[in-house]
Amino acid sequence: MNDSSETTVTDGIPAGSLRSFAVETRGDAFSNELKDRIIGELTAKNMVYLDKGRPDLVISVGGDGTLLQAFHKYFYCLGQTAFVGVHTGHLGFYADWTADEVDDLTASVTSKQCNIVAYPLLNVRISYKHQDRVRSYLALNECTIRSGEGLLVADVLIRGEKFESFRGDGLCFSTPTGSTAYNKGLSGAIIHPSLPTVQLTEIASINNRVFRTIGSPLILPRHHHCQVRPVNDDRFNVTVDHLSTLHADVKQMECCVATEKIRFARFRPLPFWRRVRDAFIG
Ligand code: NAP
Ligand code: MN
Repeated sequence: MNDSSETTVTDGIPAGSLRSFAVETRGDAFSNELKDRIIGELTAKNMVYLDKGRPDLVISVGGDGTLLQAFHKYFYCLGQTAFVGVHTGHLGFYADWTADEVDDLTASVTSKQCNIVAYPLLNVRISYKHQDRVRSYLALNECTIRSGEGLLVADVLIRGEKFESFRGDGLCFSTPTGSTAYNKGLSGAIIHPSLPTVQLTEIASINNRVFRTIGSPLILPRHHHCQVRPVNDDRFNVTVDHLSTLHADVKQMECCVATEKIRFARFRPLPFWRRVRDAFIG
């Protein structure tokens, strides 16, 4: 069994099945130059370039942050779009092709069969005390909650049952592929992306004789939804990947494994633990 077998949804998509593509870049001159080269090479081989709509393939050129942006731009067509990342800076988790390999990548896109691997996402739903609507978000890395101002004081519930009263800077809910990002800085575990889970980590909790939180990261399976309810201040500062919004009048924020997944096009094997080693051990 290879490393990605549990997450592989389609083995061996025949060469030539990816017909349309988009390219998202970090915006720097070098990434834009690569973008022009990719567009030239792929359109010369009769692929259709789109910069909106529903491309079969989205190529992100920049860093992991660029792939996060591409994901949020194309969130409405996750079921049919596959992503691939080229890094123009340091080695990335989502961006796994180097700038030197761009010709290899474009040749692979048009003439090699590929596998599609699907990774879990995080679903976030915020409901309000005096409004009927619910706001939903999908995160590729994580979602964090902080208070509107000062300390976050909130009840944490798992499957609707009170788990703890949290006091501290905030809470972080991460996906398996996001576990190497902010979650890692919070001493969370690194989770293999074949596990459809959400990890909850604390951001500087207060623990003394009066206030007590679990202190350890929690790893929740697909069917265990987690709710966070404000205690006094009902404003939540919420980040979803690189995006941040302030919510007032919050009744509850709920996090769980999303039904949607992100699909990556793999033209060669890329063991997750090798990427972890290369990024953090060297
Ligand atoms: P950024 O400030 O450029 O990102 C911070 C760093 O996180 C960058 O080096 C980025 O890589 C890297 N990164 C992003 N996703 C990753 C992943 N899944 N695994 C390992 N590293 C990853 O902002 P950004 O590029 O828009 O990324 C937003 C992300 O930054 C957030 O989702 C959060 O995870 C992370 N963040 C981390 C901390 C922390 O560790 N204390 C604090 C705030 C935010 P690139 O340089 O390749 O883009
Ligand atoms: Mn970045």
